[in-house]
Amino acid sequence: MLMEVTCRCGWTTRGSRAVVISKIQEHGRSAHQQEITPAQVRAIWRVVEDDGAKS
Ligand SMILES: [Zn+2]
Repeated sequence: MLMEVTCRCGWTTRGSRAVVISKIQEHGRSAHQQEITPAQVRAIWRVVEDDGAKS
């Protein structure tokens, strides 16, 4: 299952849960000097429906 997260600045990423969490944490540090917790990520991410692909 793919997850997608859009930052308040408009930056967006998608991938598996672990990937999305690590990617946005990295983005938060480099772009906003802010530490983002996994709980914060889980609050804003959304599921990306796969197009016909079976998960
Ligand atoms: Zn951002």
